[in-house]
Amino acid sequence: MTNAAISDNFSLLSKLMDIHGENSFKAKSYAIAAFTVEKLPEELSAFPKEKIFSIKGIGESAGQKIVEQLETGTLQVLADYIQKTPEGIIEMLQRIKGLGPKKISTIWKEMNIESIGELLYACNENRLTLYKGFGEKTQESVRKSIEFYLNTLGSYLYAQIETYALSFTNGLKQYFKDYKFELSGEFKRQLGVIEQLEWITTLTVEQLKNFLITNGYEVETEANDQIIFKGNENVVLRFYLATEEAFYATLFKHNCSETFLNKWTEEFGFEETKNYPSEAAIFSKNNIDFIPVYKREDAKIIELAKQKKLPKDIQENDITAIIHSHSKWSDGSNTLEEMANAAIAKGLEYLVISDHSKTAFYANGLQVERVLAQHQEIDELNKKLAPFKIFKSIESDILNDGHLDYDEEILKQFDLVIASIHSNLSMTEDKAMMRLITATENPYTTILGHLTGRLLLSRNGYPVNHQKIIDACAANNVVIELNAHPRRLDIDWTFINAALEKNVLISINPDAHSIDGFDDCKYGILAAQKTLITKEQNLSSFSLQQFEAFLIKQADKR
Ligand SMILES: [Zn+2]
Ligand SMILES: [Zn+2]
Repeated sequence: MTNAAISDNFSLLSKLMDIHGENSFKAKSYAIAAFTVEKLPEELSAFPKEKIFSIKGIGESAGQKIVEQLETGTLQVLADYIQKTPEGIIEMLQRIKGLGPKKISTIWKEMNIESIGELLYACNENRLTLYKGFGEKTQESVRKSIEFYLNTLGSYLYAQIETYALSFTNGLKQYFKDYKFELSGEFKRQLGVIEQLEWITTLTVEQLKNFLITNGYEVETEANDQIIFKGNENVVLRFYLATEEAFYATLFKHNCSETFLNKWTEEFGFEETKNYPSEAAIFSKNNIDFIPVYKREDAKIIELAKQKKLPKDIQENDITAIIHSHSKWSDGSNTLEEMANAAIAKGLEYLVISDHSKTAFYANGLQVERVLAQHQEIDELNKKLAPFKIFKSIESDILNDGHLDYDEEILKQFDLVIASIHSNLSMTEDKAMMRLITATENPYTTILGHLTGRLLLSRNGYPVNHQKIIDACAANNVVIELNAHPRRLDIDWTFINAALEKNVLISINPDAHSIDGFDDCKYGILAAQKTLITKEQNLSSFSLQQFEAFLIKQADKR
């Protein structure tokens, strides 16, 4: 074993001991040992055993552990600490700049965060600043170093890669004006997570190489029909090469999911080398409606297009309201009035303010007196801002037993209630279903918030049976949220058609924690466009009048 490896082990041991709140004296002695070993001019493996114990800065205990490592190649006590520490915590310790053991201990033990993804989400929700030792500056630098680290992993959220994908495309289009160049693949299909960017081009390999290598990109793989580059951003950039004649056929091929393409080929046949003047021509030639790229997933859509029954896509400007938002009353960064004015400036008709409920202490959730005080402020603002309207809501925690977070006395004062799970996320499907179904059956629940609790690229949601929840929502007249935050996109789009079939309304909600958060509606729309949803089936597209009528009907449940 090398000195460097021994030193690394001591250093990690010292930090893990600190995180676990062990005797700081002991922890420090291993930090000193790490430092000492690293600086030694000779390899320890060449030392006689006795001499190890006489090195300055190496005590009895550290000396024994050096011998152990030299003899066995491992350090048992370190292995034990690693075993009782969540992987995400160790990853944080090793990968996130600016986070020492003390802060990580607070993150783990007090904030109950166990992964880097959750930590990033907490930064974005302004949650770190509620804890001792975490100012706004620290929060911001933690956020930046997490983002940097995650980007080096190569997978991106759609929202993270969007600007890069578009400007890269434009750059090449401008440079090679006489050639065809189109984005395709995952990005064009508007998927929430992008693992690679794909283009179809009439450029040659040589042209691509000349241009990209000069700009700092490296060739990863090269084949007959494609070439892959990688740059500093660590994104896979795949280029499919097409002839001028076959360009649109090639584009079509890579714009479809495999299931879709197979079904298409079975129905209409498909010649990869045929010359079409556009993608649309491929559809019109077969006398079927044009299916946008983002809808080319499931084979069933082909049947609808054949019957010319494709629904009208929901668009970003079909959003008439912000439903699900947080203000300074809980963990948002803007005041209620600022949120309302921003919604007015965007031309929206109403705002549903749904701060966190009392159990969500980590998010400054509202105790009963503060609920009432907030309602007073809403009443005053509504007088001032009419005809714009703020609705009184709450994002009520779904408690461990499935109950909502307030007594009926308080619940009935809200215009509507969004029920979400925020705590004890590691649970079996049975437990998750019990909590969700109980909450759905509560007469005060209007909307089921972020159904599975997943955070894309950082945390899997708890296991649920989507169909059973959809059935319960249908039976109890509960709306299902499509949380539009680009890291959530929860309910997953693949289940939305099943909800629509049961006449369950969807609500595309930004879960905005600031005015800027309103813009996240866009990512909800991109996901929703992959389904058959129309604006009539989306609650946040209801006019103020329709929304009020909807609430009156909901009140019948109470
Ligand atoms: Zn929530
Ligand atoms: Zn929320």
